Amino acid sequence: MKAFSTDLDALRSVAAALLDPSGVLLEGNSGFVRLVVDSRLVDRDADHMGVRVSAFFIHPSFSALLGCSPGEADLLHDGLITVGNREGNVQTLRARVWRHPEGVRVLAEYDIDELERMKRSVLDLSGDSAVLHAETSRVNFRLRQREAQVVAASLTDPLTGAGNRRRLQEALTQEVVQAHQAGTPLSVFMADIDFFKRVNDRYGHRAGDDVLVRFAALMRDHLRAIDVLTRHGGEEFVVVMPNTGLAEGILAAERIRAVFAREPIPPMTEPASASFGVAELQRDEDGAALLERADRGLYMAKQGGRNRVEVYSAGS
Ligand code: GH3
Ligand code: MG
Ligand code: MG
Repeated sequence: MKAFSTDLDALRSVAAALLDPSGVLLEGNSGFVRLVVDSRLVDRDADHMGVRVSAFFIHPSFSALLGCSPGEADLLHDGLITVGNREGNVQTLRARVWRHPEGVRVLAEYDIDELERMKRSVLDLSGDSAVLHAETSRVNFRLRQREAQVVAASLTDPLTGAGNRRRLQEALTQEVVQAHQAGTPLSVFMADIDFFKRVNDRYGHRAGDDVLVRFAALMRDHLRAIDVLTRHGGEEFVVVMPNTGLAEGILAAERIRAVFAREPIPPMTEPASASFGVAELQRDEDGAALLERADRGLYMAKQGGRNRVEVYSAGS
């Protein structure tokens, strides 16, 4: 079975992998590791095998891929997928995904421009109709790529680059299923900037926007690549943290809170601050209930004087 991926190592434009049903990487060629995990790990086999990469499947999500009804034979998906990696590189590529006794097998081609150029230079020699054919397939590819970019954009908040509400719903659904199935912890926090209306009133809407952008960037800097940062509303963000228990979730929120409240963002003369509510997924709980508890924690943090992290637990 090892031969499945090593044979493909020579092909830089092919990403091939075998993943277990929870998205753990069992085998992957260097093309796959570069694309979906981290290009810096390509030559370090031991570092990426066993890593759960499901969160890097942006569209369709990994659970959506698994949930596709089997078409011909065991084919689950034959079309474009959008994936990211730890370095934040997002790419759209043609992929086929099959059911496999151990999970799913993924085969995708990327660096497609290069491929098209090669094809074209060969075809140029063989007459006009061949050139036309190559041109048509290039245009078709661009259209499909554009379509996938539109899909990716439809999951992103344009101001801050964080995911939008749709992305939050997708990530939450996927991670809640995963956590319940694998018995792994899952935490979320909800953050809301304090007295944000005042920021707008005193310094203007543009300065307010800048604070939002800075807050999102700061959170991104302090989160792991598998955490999903989303903008839930005006100045309210939700972060989904897979494989994270409550204590760790509180620490993450606390770190961000402390850094954000440290220094003023020009042109403001005083530091801004934010309040946080953290919750860990309970047995039998769904994403909506989890979010509701994070929201109650946030409410407690506001009531308690703002610029703090709170946890709502039933009975408190
Ligand atoms: P609290 O501490 O209770 O959260 O007070 P607050 O002033 O932050 O809360 P409130 O909900 O009263 O005000 C939120 C403000 O956020 C009001 C709205 O004008 C502003 N806002 C929402 N979206 C944006 C945006 O995209 N850009 C800017 N600049 N302001 C926004
Ligand atoms: Mg606010
Ligand atoms: Mg608010």
